Amino acid sequence: MTMDLTRRKFLKTSTVLAASGVVAGPFTGCTTKNINTKTGGDKTLKFTFRPYELQTKHQFTISGYTRTVQTSILTEITYDGITGYGEAPLPPYMEGQTTESALAFMSRVNLGQFGNPFEMDDILTYVDGVEEGNTCAKAGIDIALHDLFGKLTGQPLYQIWGYTKSKTPFTTVTIGIDSEEVVRQKTDEAAPFKRIKVKLGMDEATDKMLITTVRSVTDKPITVDANQGWKDKHYALDMIHWLNERGIVFIEQPLPKYNLDDMAWITERSPLPTLADESCQRLTDIPRLKGVFSGINIKLLKCTGLREANRMISMAEAFDMKLMIGSTLETSCGVSAAAQLTPKMDYADLDGNFLISNDCFTGMKVVDGKITLNDEPGIGIKLINS
Ligand SMILES: [Mg+2]
Repeated sequence: MTMDLTRRKFLKTSTVLAASGVVAGPFTGCTTKNINTKTGGDKTLKFTFRPYELQTKHQFTISGYTRTVQTSILTEITYDGITGYGEAPLPPYMEGQTTESALAFMSRVNLGQFGNPFEMDDILTYVDGVEEGNTCAKAGIDIALHDLFGKLTGQPLYQIWGYTKSKTPFTTVTIGIDSEEVVRQKTDEAAPFKRIKVKLGMDEATDKMLITTVRSVTDKPITVDANQGWKDKHYALDMIHWLNERGIVFIEQPLPKYNLDDMAWITERSPLPTLADESCQRLTDIPRLKGVFSGINIKLLKCTGLREANRMISMAEAFDMKLMIGSTLETSCGVSAAAQLTPKMDYADLDGNFLISNDCFTGMKVVDGKITLNDEPGIGIKLINS
């Protein structure tokens, strides 16, 4: 299956939504408000949101999907003159979640019923209960509320949680499935990064060409994500052994997400750590993954945001599983929110902002390949041109 989300389709969808009144304002880009200006006064929670069209630097292909644009819904929660920012990216592989469904969900959320943003746990329990699913939309609300909480208390979230700033890992940058020439070019462009993530899961010749091509350009550590693309456990294990001989760090989601018996068989024999991505959506998935994978890949858009991500960290640590945090195509808003958790991570794949050409925030930086957090409160972002 291949899905090409064109600009035309995005515009059509957004126009329909705007006409229906679901969208809170036009999608003309980022606001120009200064995020740290205290205008004072209104001690009620005000929630607004609008879709934003992310443009990719290159056509981006993973096993199953090709994208040149992707919608992300930018969220704002304001209280007492302070605004927290969030983001709900909507990649095509989040089953049942579309721009339309996410906007409809957000329009049903009534945050005005809560007295203040410090009742965060009750607020997010309410949001999670409004309707099942909708994890992307819920993450967009969770991130904005956490950013607001951090700004109101004047502290970065990693500091509020007691995480050590210097313990952030290196992040990978992702090379999608492409021709040899484009893969070479993308590997060159990845110079600021010290780790490369390669998307596999196609036929054997293509998968081996991708690894061989990247290896011909760089000797940096490579991580591999098969995105459920391999169907047979014996073939998958053979590929993992082939990858192990080429300096690969770990293998993410080699088999379809529900094939846990075969996955446990692979993990038992694999020379490389195995990471669950599609198999691990939320907290309640983790117990059945113990012994099936070596670790889990947490993404805010899968697990409803930072509150549940922290609970997943605790559970994975209790099960002695490795921790990774990932992103999709998103702005520095979503990436910087996820970055607050990275002192707890063994691996990070936070390159969503690097892969787009119209980022509208600044925040977390990659310095010498390492995730580098700043001292700004909340998720540590600023609007560009604000
Ligand atoms: Mg993955």
